[in-house]
Amino acid sequence: MTAQLIDGNALAATVRAEVAHRVQALQARDVQPHLSIILVGDNPASQVYVRSKVADSQQTGLSATLERYPAELPQAELLARIAALNADPAVHGILVQLPLPPHMDAHAVIEAIAPAKDVDGFHVASAGALMVGQPGFRPCTPYGCMRMLQSIGLHDLRGRHAVVIGRSNIVGKPMAMMLLAQNATVTVCHSGTSDLAALTRQADIVVAAVGKRNVLTADMVKPGAVVIDVGMNRDDAGKLCGDVDFAGVRQVASWITPVPGGVGPMTRAMLLVNTIEAAERAAA
Ligand code: NAP
Repeated sequence: MTAQLIDGNALAATVRAEVAHRVQALQARDVQPHLSIILVGDNPASQVYVRSKVADSQQTGLSATLERYPAELPQAELLARIAALNADPAVHGILVQLPLPPHMDAHAVIEAIAPAKDVDGFHVASAGALMVGQPGFRPCTPYGCMRMLQSIGLHDLRGRHAVVIGRSNIVGKPMAMMLLAQNATVTVCHSGTSDLAALTRQADIVVAAVGKRNVLTADMVKPGAVVIDVGMNRDDAGKLCGDVDFAGVRQVASWITPVPGGVGPMTRAMLLVNTIEAAERAAA
């Protein structure tokens, strides 16, 4: 079996078109959806990420502003700026690019964002809403993975076993909650899991979110399983690759996401979905 590709670029283009449609509907009511992005310091990767977030937003008709501050910015000043954005009715989404400089407490900064504007979905209120099945903002990466599963017809996951490798607060844990909400049976694995392969071999869906190459190899995958690769690593030639041994696993799985061109573009697209959602809720 050669797995079919879940094309993240194509699906992200569809999602962006849906967002553009929703933006137009709000503009027709004189509401301009707006995302405010804050970057502290000059981390090179972060600079690339924030620029793409602004460009993605503008492509769909969302307006976006990028505020840049020096790495030495006192935390109190950042919190004051977030408070001002929270109070500004023209701002619907607020995103503080991580990582923050070492003198800042990232948790305190994220908690300062009004939950109604938390389009990254990292606030404790957003995590709590996901946990109890209430409306809130879903973290963009697992949200994008769920959309990828839907795109291949996997909506209700009743009777299916999903194995999530990784338990970070921004990927693994929310991913597990979203799968559970769709009625999957979920196993969450991490560095303390013994015999990972024995678990992944039972899985109908495997989500790898570790940050290490070849965490999932062909012998660890049940024939016909769906494999979602969240990882972002570099191979020996310096090329972007995921956590999954793509060439090998592709011979066993039924569907697989590539890296690049898989979860990455979907993560970007789901930020736009959360932002338009925030604006629609504010305008309701
Ligand atoms: P993280 O916070 O470092 O978490 C990694 C997880 O992997 C941890 O739970 C860790 O277990 C687990 N782990 C480490 N080694 C393992 C092993 N050998 N077997 C099983 N589990 C193991 O990373 P993250 O922020 O979730 O990101 C994970 C990967 O996804 C990274 O490559 C990141 O760059 C990528 N990512 C991609 C996107 C995208 O848009 N494509 C977005 C976000 C993240 P412990 O908890 O026990 O330490």
